[in-house]
Amino acid sequence: MAALRRAVFLDRDGVLNHDRGYVSRPEDFEWLPGVMHALRALQRADWALVVATNQSGIARGLYGPAEYANLTAWMHSELARHGITLDAVYHCPHLPDAPLAAWRRQCDCRKPAPGMLRRAARDLELDLSACVMVGDKPSDIAAGRAAGVAACIRIADAIDHVSCDIADPPADFTCANLAEGARWLLEHEQRRHA
Ligand SMILES: [Mg+2]
Ligand SMILES: [Zn+2]
Repeated sequence: MAALRRAVFLDRDGVLNHDRGYVSRPEDFEWLPGVMHALRALQRADWALVVATNQSGIARGLYGPAEYANLTAWMHSELARHGITLDAVYHCPHLPDAPLAAWRRQCDCRKPAPGMLRRAARDLELDLSACVMVGDKPSDIAAGRAAGVAACIRIADAIDHVSCDIADPPADFTCANLAEGARWLLEHEQRRHA
């Protein structure tokens, strides 16, 4: 049997791109600085790259599944131009009190639930205990903990950082952007293997 792989689970908005709230079109999708470089470095170090994103904009009727799929296809092609391949992208379109009945559900995939991470582990044969979660919200960190990942990295700007609620699930590392998070991760594993 092939060895289980490890993955970096990436929240999308606020980690890969500026979180402008319910981003649904390529023209509103602005990559955060250093993201391409960080993803390439992680990919080169043999981390699977898996995006796990709550997309309640679908349940709220702000955009449809087709618009979401279109943006995701565009994201893949942008990354491909930079030599980056995402192993998978998972999204949760649900909301317990959604205005659209089709998406109104108490699901197991909306973070802080770990459903998307568990599904990725099954689909890609991942060792969850060797995976890492990167997110900008407490719900991202909580999803990582619930899935039993090795470490959780919180992206927070200086203001967010100060206002982090004491009740928030603590991250293993808090930093300003994915580039810093990737550097921490790669240095951390070098130390472990030294
Ligand atoms: Mg986010
Ligand atoms: Zn869901």
